[in-house]
Amino acid sequence: MGLFESFSQIRTLLKTIDLNAVSKLSKKVDLNKLMATVSKMDDEDLAKMLKLLQAGSRKKKEKPPVNGDFYELDKTLTVEERGILLKVRNFMETEIRPIANEYWNKAHFPMHIISLMAKLNICGLTYHGYGCGGKSALLEGFLAMEMARVDSSISTFFGVHSGLAMGSIYLCGSEEQKEYWLPIMQKMEIIGAFGLTEPEVGSGVAGGLTTTCKKIGDEWVLNGQKKWIGNATFSDITIIWARNLDDNQVKGFIVRKDNQGFEAKKMEDKMALRTVQNALITLTDCKIPESDRLQNANSFKDTANVLRMTRAGVAWQAVGCGRGAYELALKYTMERKQFGRPIAGFQLVQDLLVTMLGDLTAMQTMVYRLSQLQDGGQLTDEHASLAKVFCTLRMRSIVDHARELFGGNGILLEYDIARFVADAEAIYSYEGTKEINSLIVGRAITGESAFV
Ligand SMILES: Cc1cc2nc3c(=O)[nH]c(=O)nc-3n(C[C@H](O)[C@H](O)[C@H](O)COP(=O)(O)OP(=O)(O)OC[C@H]3O[C@@H](n4cnc5c(N)ncnc54)[C@H](O)[C@@H]3O)c2cc1C
Repeated sequence: MGLFESFSQIRTLLKTIDLNAVSKLSKKVDLNKLMATVSKMDDEDLAKMLKLLQAGSRKKKEKPPVNGDFYELDKTLTVEERGILLKVRNFMETEIRPIANEYWNKAHFPMHIISLMAKLNICGLTYHGYGCGGKSALLEGFLAMEMARVDSSISTFFGVHSGLAMGSIYLCGSEEQKEYWLPIMQKMEIIGAFGLTEPEVGSGVAGGLTTTCKKIGDEWVLNGQKKWIGNATFSDITIIWARNLDDNQVKGFIVRKDNQGFEAKKMEDKMALRTVQNALITLTDCKIPESDRLQNANSFKDTANVLRMTRAGVAWQAVGCGRGAYELALKYTMERKQFGRPIAGFQLVQDLLVTMLGDLTAMQTMVYRLSQLQDGGQLTDEHASLAKVFCTLRMRSIVDHARELFGGNGILLEYDIARFVADAEAIYSYEGTKEINSLIVGRAITGESAFV
């Protein structure tokens, strides 16, 4: 190598040196001593030292935040709405997450949280008047997601009370009934349940209800059974749907828990949503005054109006369950080490995480638009059904992938993810199974009804 060539190399080298960094370094170490030591090292030792230094600088790198809202949809909410969302998130993280597995395992409901939840002031959020919020369906959807992100049992309890029970009164009650019941339900002073499904009739409730009602004098007499009724073991009132023996139409009733003809027995040994208290209800000559019949529930079409509204909420709940599982899995993969490094650094693990995030983002953007349709008064049965089918299917796939990423720990309750896998199964089936919601969408897009 010629002299000029060496000078040119040295000049190039000097240009690459950050003199500020060298000056800072010289204050920490004796540079002459450092250079003398390094120059004595052989190639192998130098390579080892470089690796160590790189590992050190990697360690200092901040980990990205764990956040399943990849397209930052929550940023589109107003400041006030985001405040409500944060309040609910804080409640779920501080009051629910620490006790979720314990109550799920015991299959008990944490009754003490009702008064705490009441303070959030979020029941009947979209209803206008009667002490309710008059807020958007979009915000309500976000809240359902937020709850299910931590515990689907709690979001189910809330959905049954605020959506199905309060919604039945809001959509089908008389002014007097709304004025009496909605303000106290909004404050959670009384809790509601919703009884439609029966032991022998689930998917076929529209035409097949066997629970009967008959008007005798000023009273209605109800007979039959209802299965799966969430909250009904402790709720103050249960909305019961029954077929009128006289005109064959479906009517709705507000049944109080102290009614002599009403018995609610807890369903035991569920493998999903164990915290939710589901009841088998038996109605034996259950007498209800005309004043407790929902005055504007005249046929199953009115029941279907309630279900349309709440089905959209269940789609959001599926997003929450998927989001919670994705976030748990992402955090776990960043912490769990195998072969000396976090498993998040393996290509196959990242592939699963990205597949989950893609599904989750598609679900989120779908329910976002669904709520916009709802807020614009354009929501149809098929809109809600498509979202319920798609989101619950993708939720099932996300929780499966998430559990896979936990390896063996994925089946231990203490790691949370097992609860998400189990709970997803119930969300997948309730408020209309995949098949029934697909038939609703199929009928809308083809003009042909494939219902039997
Ligand atoms: C945890 C939980 C909570 C619940 N909470 C409540 C509640 O609070 N209030 C309430 O009223 N109900 C509640 N339900 C009931 C729920 O809505 C029903 O379970 C659901 O509607 C399905 O009814 P089913 O279980 O009787 O199933 P079935 O109707 O017996 O269906 C069994 C299978 O057959 C399929 N199937 C049925 N008919 C058809 C068809 N025509 N074509 C193709 N496939 C078909 C279904 O898709 C399903 O795969 C709850 C259920 C669960 C699991």
